[in-house]
Amino acid sequence: MNSSQNYYTHSGGINPLGIIYSIVLGGLACLLLAIIYAYATFYVPFIYLNIIFTIIFGAAVGMAIGLCANWGKIRNNKATITLAVIFAVIAVYFSWVAWLFAYTDSEYLILSPLDQWQAMQMIAIDGVWGIRNITPTGIALYLIWLAEAAIVIAASYYLCLWATGDVPFCERCHKWAKTSNSDQKFADIPNKKHLIKQLENGDLSAIKNLSTEIEDPSAYTQIGLTKCPSCSQDSYLTVKYCSITTDKDGKDNLSALNIVENLIISSADHRELEQKINAAT
Ligand SMILES: [Zn+2]
Repeated sequence: MNSSQNYYTHSGGINPLGIIYSIVLGGLACLLLAIIYAYATFYVPFIYLNIIFTIIFGAAVGMAIGLCANWGKIRNNKATITLAVIFAVIAVYFSWVAWLFAYTDSEYLILSPLDQWQAMQMIAIDGVWGIRNITPTGIALYLIWLAEAAIVIAASYYLCLWATGDVPFCERCHKWAKTSNSDQKFADIPNKKHLIKQLENGDLSAIKNLSTEIEDPSAYTQIGLTKCPSCSQDSYLTVKYCSITTDKDGKDNLSALNIVENLIISSADHRELEQKINAAT
């Protein structure tokens, strides 16, 4: 049996309403974000700050599309990511419309991409900004603009992935499942490979018998339970290995690694584990 069959995977379903939400609301969000971004980069003359603006701009576009896809109940990560990339390109286009409008003292609203390209070619002759007495022009400026667009698209792609995540969806009730992540700490399980095998074979005894007595406070286990809020028929288990390391400045850093994520479990196991967590809290 393929171990992936033990875990939740999206059905690939695309709700037409989700596409409409993404196009209408996502499009509006892109327009608004592009205007804010264009004016921010036009009026703030610090190049390093502008790079941060570019990352935030792309991330915000990806986040907006991810949220729209979530509201619209799209269970197809490929479709959502494709939307995030397309809208990132549209957002870059809108940002150029707004930036050129600001650059021409609100005289020209250049909507045609061909006219935009001509305007960019004229601007590239003398350049627009400098860093350490160097003003990029021509090919160098085109490459910077290309890199800027690539940053927006990449940030949108990754944030969209993060925003949509892998939250299970109940196809029966047409609802996203709800996760209860408990802060309760349980003992660390040293042999994680063996644990994964056990869990994938439907043997949850290692988790059911986990002790709350933690020998080493820098390594512990946390349990997350997910189920459909309506029918409670689909249940999933996430087990995290948490470790705390101290850096050279004496600062503690917490890192969490999923041992299993959204493993399919029975409703009875879900109830038993829920009771275990509640009793320990
Ligand atoms: Zn349900």
